[in-house]
Amino acid sequence: MTPPGNLERSLKQFFGYDSFRPGQREIVEAALADRDQLIVMPTGGGKSLCFQLPALLKPGVTVVVSPLIALMQDQVEALQNNGIGATFLNSTLNWEEQRSREMAIVTGRVKLLYVSPERLVGDRFLAFLEVVRARVGLSSFAIDEAHCVSEWGHDFRPEYRQLRLLRDRYPQVPVMGLTATATDRVRHDIVSQLALQNPRVHLASFNRPNLYYEVRQKRRQSYGDLLHIIREIGGSGIIYCLSRRRVEELAARLQSDKIKALAYHAGLGDEERANSQRRFIRDDVQVMVATIAFGMGINKPDVRFVVHYDLPRNLESYYQESGRSGRDGEPAHCALFYSYGDLKTIEYLIDQKPDPQEQLIARQQLRQILNYVEGTDCRRTIQLGYFGERFPGNCENCDNCRNPKPIEDWTVEAMKFLSCVARTKERFGTNHIIDVLRGSKKAKVLRYNHQELSTFGIGTDKTADEWKMLARSLVHQGLLNETDDGYSVLKLNAASWEVMRKQRQVQLAVTRKAEETPLDGR
Ligand code: ADP
Ligand code: ZN
Repeated sequence: MTPPGNLERSLKQFFGYDSFRPGQREIVEAALADRDQLIVMPTGGGKSLCFQLPALLKPGVTVVVSPLIALMQDQVEALQNNGIGATFLNSTLNWEEQRSREMAIVTGRVKLLYVSPERLVGDRFLAFLEVVRARVGLSSFAIDEAHCVSEWGHDFRPEYRQLRLLRDRYPQVPVMGLTATATDRVRHDIVSQLALQNPRVHLASFNRPNLYYEVRQKRRQSYGDLLHIIREIGGSGIIYCLSRRRVEELAARLQSDKIKALAYHAGLGDEERANSQRRFIRDDVQVMVATIAFGMGINKPDVRFVVHYDLPRNLESYYQESGRSGRDGEPAHCALFYSYGDLKTIEYLIDQKPDPQEQLIARQQLRQILNYVEGTDCRRTIQLGYFGERFPGNCENCDNCRNPKPIEDWTVEAMKFLSCVARTKERFGTNHIIDVLRGSKKAKVLRYNHQELSTFGIGTDKTADEWKMLARSLVHQGLLNETDDGYSVLKLNAASWEVMRKQRQVQLAVTRKAEETPLDGR
């Protein structure tokens, strides 16, 4: 292997960095040894360097496949600014420009050639690639955003499937796949679709220690809390809302409070969106208020905060979206605001989905995000657990670690609730159980004669929302099951019976329902 000092010297010489980020050195060494590799690193982990540095140290050209033209341009520009021979070929170039770039490549003045997957698999480019191989050699293929080959990823692109032809045509040239998508299934798909040979897999921790995570319930003062975050943290930030309407409303309100904010959503024209993006990157505007249409492929390392002003749809999106902050490794703030209203909106949207399979997945995802927002464990433990990574907790950089929530003993209430599930023969969902507990005379209660049960009306001391909080917590804690068939029927399990037999205590971290502001009402 390369003596330790040498790689550091090249790192400093070409990029001006003093040391490698975790994993980078080993990846660069394996690349220099011509191994196939799969690199799974969170956004901001420093993936680009993993193929850029080896490209500079090896003879020949490294071909980088990247799906987003804007991203390609950014990277090439940054490399050129460091005096590195890099260029891209895509459909935006005129014929002359194209020719002159091709000349630069075949005369050895280019070490990194960026190209889109559509372009790469065309006959013309493949012929050119053959000339490159003959004249200067191919040192490796780097496939960025490699999860696009997988239908299980969040961004499947059929052209990516054809990239396998690189392996077929050039079996000797090593391939490196890079992605920030962590799930096991996608990883396996990348290895098989790209036909990686005995690849070295680098699986980085998905922990982002510089990000502070907090969750707040929406209340009357939430808008004030938001302003406080924007002003106190300062710097650039992104605020995500669920709908275009809410994006527009919030952006207008912030503007009237003298915050330089812009609205961004898919309803705006291409040009307006591109322009807004540019202004955000150049720090002309401080805050982007956006739907999830904003962010993929935005390379702005110094985003200081990401606020979700509505409940996100699932934990993976939350991780990716909040992860757009602090890519420079400096502290950044991720806040999530949610309300029971959000929950109802999402449940309503799920009910509208025509496909029962889709409904099922969406319900599971909703439960996971609820697990996160209502959880009392370290936020990192919950998030990373979702990616199959164990995190011991006590991160000291999330709300739950800094200010643990008050824990109350709700064993008696849990016994009442579970007994009511038992008395109604495990055939109903949460709302019906709560109706019985609270002594409702609704038609459904009377139809089943549930006003005759011993558990009827024994729960009037708690509000329906408090009972709901308990029910969700019982499910999260594994003390009660809920069916996945679309009906969410509550079922008892062995742990439920332990609670009813007083063999087990039930602790609840209590978040009191707060009033919702007019802005939050729909
Ligand atoms: P990713 O593609 O994994 O999201 P990038 O390659 O864009 O991450 O890198 C994220 C940021 O980290 C960039 O601003 C990059 O310049 C910086 N970076 C990468 N490696 C190092 C390093 N060894 N030392 C300092 N900064 C680095
Ligand atoms: Zn923590």
